[in-house]
Amino acid sequence: MSSLDTYAAKKLAALEARHLRRTLVETAREDGIWVQRAGRKLLSFSCNDYLNLSQHPNVQDAAIAAIREHGAGAGASRLVTGNHPLYAALETRLARLKQTEAACVFGSGYLANLGIISTLIGRNDLVLVDELSHSCILAGAALSGGKMLTFRHNNIEDARALLTQHRASHRHVLIATDGVFSMDGDLAPLHELAALSQEHDAWLLSDDAHGIGVVGGGRGSGFARGGKADIPLQMGTLSKAVGGYGGYLCASQFVIDLIKTRARTFVYSTALPPPTVAAAIAALDIIEQDAALTAKPLQKAKAFTSRLNLREAESAIVPIVLGDTETTLNASRMLEDEGFLVSAIRPPTVPNGTSRLRLTFTAAHPDAEIARLAAIIGERLLVH
Ligand SMILES: *Cc1c(COP(=O)(O)O)cnc(C)c1O
Repeated sequence: MSSLDTYAAKKLAALEARHLRRTLVETAREDGIWVQRAGRKLLSFSCNDYLNLSQHPNVQDAAIAAIREHGAGAGASRLVTGNHPLYAALETRLARLKQTEAACVFGSGYLANLGIISTLIGRNDLVLVDELSHSCILAGAALSGGKMLTFRHNNIEDARALLTQHRASHRHVLIATDGVFSMDGDLAPLHELAALSQEHDAWLLSDDAHGIGVVGGGRGSGFARGGKADIPLQMGTLSKAVGGYGGYLCASQFVIDLIKTRARTFVYSTALPPPTVAAAIAALDIIEQDAALTAKPLQKAKAFTSRLNLREAESAIVPIVLGDTETTLNASRMLEDEGFLVSAIRPPTVPNGTSRLRLTFTAAHPDAEIARLAAIIGERLLVH
């Protein structure tokens, strides 16, 4: 074997021994919530398509029409020739929903954070991140070359202490956090973080990947708790409740103009395919108009948490922390035998010792199936 293959094989064997090797399982989605795996039909509680918009006829028709009109791919980055007319329409819609002057769309949410953070932050700067923030915030901070410090989860006093100690020795400071935490489902205290940022002349970035379409009347986590929080950098993804693919930043015109000039993941990466952009516009139409639909995922999640006396759901995501990795994998297999797809989430996605089942609820989940899932989890996993 070559040294490269030897390296890869050894690394895989070591991960396998710790139950941390990951494998892809072919899973065909039938509609918003039912999937086919290994010849069996399962009800998925592991999909972020919270409003089932990936399957909505308006969204699908918009994508098909855009393919016919503009083609399957963009052909270049937007600064070259990839800036087809649908982009401006989508960015106007996003800015309107988030109540900002302007917006910029990226290839994905992950690429958005890499580009945003590395454009705004440099060597003499500081990035403060909530310790449970998504991998792409940490990756963006690393790419920026600035100093990164983490504050304890949702702990304003810890963030304040770090600012008091480190603010003066850095030119610029960015505070970055998930708005809805992707593996915990809780909300960040965005109003408090906004006030803290202003006191210390820091810039607040919230990652609303799991908020748009689901909390704050569909506008996202920045609007979830008593009015709009003052967040100058609202990023998020079009890949979850919006049902398609792509990332975005909503911000002031100056910031967006700088991002479009300098963010490497924007400048040097091909524009999103036209059908994807058209699908996102159609999905935003629905999110803006159908308040009953956007309220449903949280209603379903709350129905589940109240059945099991768990902490009341704040978003469509509900974690059931089991701790041990092998126990969690076994629990996931047990639920699969019962007809449910509930993925096990392990380190390094979550901290060591906090392996968990992560359940996501969508507008279309049948109440009777939620009740059956809750009963099985209550009887077999939560009694000790
Ligand atoms: C999923 C996710 C992303 C990445 O978005 P993609 O569009 O899937 O790349 C970023 N941040 C958070 C918090 C996420 O959960």
